[in-house]
Amino acid sequence: HDLLVTVRGGGHGISGKAVENDTLLIDLSKMSNLSADPTTMTAVGEPGVLLRELDRGTQAHGMVVPAGVVSHTGISGLTLGGGIGINMRKMGLTSDNLLSVQIVTADGKLRTASDTENTDLFWAVRGGGGNFGIVTSYTYRMHKLDPEILSGVMVYAMDEAKDMYDRYFDYSLEAPRELNMSAAMSMSPTGTPFLMAGFQYMGSPTEGEKVLKSYRTLGNPVADLIRPKTFLKQQTLLDAGNPHGTNYYIRGRTMDKYDPDLIDVMMEKWRHSPGRHNTMRLIRFGGAVDDLAKDATAWPHRGAKWDLELGGSWVDPSLSAKNIKWGKDYWDALAPYVSDRFYINEMMDETQEEVAVSYGDNYPRLVQIKNKYDPKNFFQSNGNIKPTV
Ligand SMILES: Cc1cc2nc3c(=O)[nH]c(=O)nc-3n(C[C@H](O)[C@H](O)[C@H](O)COP(=O)(O)OP(=O)(O)OC[C@H]3O[C@@H](n4cnc5c(N)ncnc54)[C@H](O)[C@@H]3O)c2cc1C
Repeated sequence: HDLLVTVRGGGHGISGKAVENDTLLIDLSKMSNLSADPTTMTAVGEPGVLLRELDRGTQAHGMVVPAGVVSHTGISGLTLGGGIGINMRKMGLTSDNLLSVQIVTADGKLRTASDTENTDLFWAVRGGGGNFGIVTSYTYRMHKLDPEILSGVMVYAMDEAKDMYDRYFDYSLEAPRELNMSAAMSMSPTGTPFLMAGFQYMGSPTEGEKVLKSYRTLGNPVADLIRPKTFLKQQTLLDAGNPHGTNYYIRGRTMDKYDPDLIDVMMEKWRHSPGRHNTMRLIRFGGAVDDLAKDATAWPHRGAKWDLELGGSWVDPSLSAKNIKWGKDYWDALAPYVSDRFYINEMMDETQEEVAVSYGDNYPRLVQIKNKYDPKNFFQSNGNIKPTV
C-alpha cells in the first residue's frame, strides 16, 4: 500500500521517527530475550531489550556491555547509532563491541553480518542507524566490571561555573580512560541554576579515589556527592529525570576545540531557559572511542573531543513552542563554537543534508552500501542515508 514503514526497538528515539502517524509500524518491543554467556564473554539481545535488562543480565556474571545512561532506552536504536555512555572511554562504543547481527534486509532476506559475513553491512550497522534493514538479534562482546564503582557529581554555584568550565575542558583532555566526565547545567526544584560535574570511575573505587583527589581541586563545590555505589544503581540514577511521556528538544554537536568565548554564550542563553528540567550537557569522548580508525566503522566521530548536548524537556505540551524556540535560538548562538556534526542518536529535526555532513568521509561508503541493500529507501524513517540509484 506504499505506506512508509517505521521500526521501533526500545521507543526512545529522540526524533520520534520510530513511531509516526500514517505509517506501518514494525514494533519489535516484544522481542526481548537476552542471554549472557560468561564462558565466551558474549551477550545476545533481541531488539526489544532495554538497557536495564542488558546491564542486569551481564552484571549477573560480573560483566558489562558498554551502553547508555538511562535504563529504559532500547539497545536497538542505541547500538545502531553508536552507543555512548559511562564505559565508552574504557571499553569503546556499544557498536564497537558488536560481534554480529542478524538482519532482515529490504529484499526480505535474513542475513548475518559480522567480520566474516556481509562485512560491508556489518561496517554500516555500526553507526549507520536503521538504514540497512531490521536487526533481529545483536551479539556483543562483554567486558569484566566489578559491581561497585566510584561515581556521582560535584555541584557548583553558577558564579563558579565559568572558571569551572575553563578548568574542566583542560582536565578532561588529560583524564584517564577509566574516568567518564560530564558537566551539566541544570536547575533545582526552586529554580536555582547550578553546574554539575559528573564523575564515574570505571575501575576499582580505590584507584578512583586517587583520581578524585585531583578532580576535587577543580573548583569549590557547594556539594560533593561522589560515593561508591553499584554500577546498576548508577545506571538508573537518570531515569527519574527522563520519564516517559515527556516532550524533548534535544540537540547535540561535537566539538573538536575549545574556545573560552563559548562559555559566555552558553551561560547567557542558559539564563533564559524557560523550564526547570532543561539541561546543557558536555561529555568528553576520547579514550577507547579513539582506539579505532575513523573509517573502522560507520560511526564518524572518532577524534572529536567533546559532545555538547542541549536537553530541552517539559511535560505540558502548551509549553512546546516556547521551549523549542529557546532551544533553536540557543543553537544558533552556539554554532560558531561547535562542529557541524552531530551524533545520529541525538538527531532532532536536522535535515538529510545535515545527516550527510555529519557522516563526513564515511558518507560515500554508506551510500554505496545503501544502494546495494536498500536501493528504494524502504527504511527511510531514520537519520537517512539517501540511495543514489
Ligand atoms: C532520555 C534519553 C536518554 C538517552 N541516553 C543515551 C545515552 O546515554 N547514550 C546514547 O548513545 N544514546 C542515548 N539516547 C539516544 C538513544 O540512543 C536513541 O534514542 C536510540 O535511538 C534509542 O534506541 P531505541 O531502540 O530505544 O529507539 P527507537 O525509537 O525504538 O528507535 C530509534 C530508531 O532506531 C532504528 N531502529 C530501532 N530498532 C531497530 C531495529 N531493530 N532494526 C533497524 N532499525 C532499528 C529506527 O530507525 C528507529 O527510528 C538517549 C535518548 C533519550 C530520549
